[in-house]
Amino acid sequence: MRQVIVAGNWKMNGSKETVNTLVMGILAGMSEVNSTVIVCVPSPYLSQVEALTTHSQLNLGAQDLNVNASGAFTGEVSADMIKDFGAQYVIVGHSERRSLYAETDAVVANKVQVALDNGLTPIFCIGETLAERDSGQMESVVMRQIQAVIDLSGIDAFKHIIIAYEPVWAIGTGVTATPQQAQDAHAFIRSILAQNDANIAQSTAILYGGSMNPNNAAELIGCEDIDGGLIGGASLKAEDFLQICKVG
Ligand code: PEP
Repeated sequence: MRQVIVAGNWKMNGSKETVNTLVMGILAGMSEVNSTVIVCVPSPYLSQVEALTTHSQLNLGAQDLNVNASGAFTGEVSADMIKDFGAQYVIVGHSERRSLYAETDAVVANKVQVALDNGLTPIFCIGETLAERDSGQMESVVMRQIQAVIDLSGIDAFKHIIIAYEPVWAIGTGVTATPQQAQDAHAFIRSILAQNDANIAQSTAILYGGSMNPNNAAELIGCEDIDGGLIGGASLKAEDFLQICKVG
């Protein structure tokens, strides 16, 4: 039985004041939540959120990492730095990183491996663009994205990876995949894992991301192969985020 996981991706949003309000709001409702809950915060706020969440049920994550341990990489953040602030999770390969910062499958796979090497759990994002879906390439795209990680790290790596299926056309657009579209994609992703290892396929958490909100979360997370959500916009309001967290 896979436990429901709900992860918030705050992206580049927040201030000291709003971060405080948001985290305190989430913490206030955590006693009614059974899911594993993660907030992936902008790096400057890791310390603040670490201090607010110590000894709580709220888990901390970052949004990206650099593959190098340290050195002349201006603006970048290493796995060690992320761990230094008590974070256990890191989003890797978000579609915004892939499209805006030209992260290829190979770059993303390398980041997944470095996260694992450093004891962080990668939230490994995959998903097709609208053009790819419309031209019937959804399956080949997610297959290629997953295969890059299998080729570099092996199927066993998925014992420590959370997958987030995020159709790019549904991210931040208000257009959600229908439960059937999402379930079909998730089942396909699980079948790719199963071709390599049936047990790993059954135990790997596959989250859905793309305009998930309190109104559609229950139906999506209720699908057989959808194990939770990666939430952007709706993770910035404590009440909305908590409602999604309570689905589990
Ligand atoms: C995301 O950025 O990972 C995401 C799913 O965003 P939104 O929920 O806003 O579509």
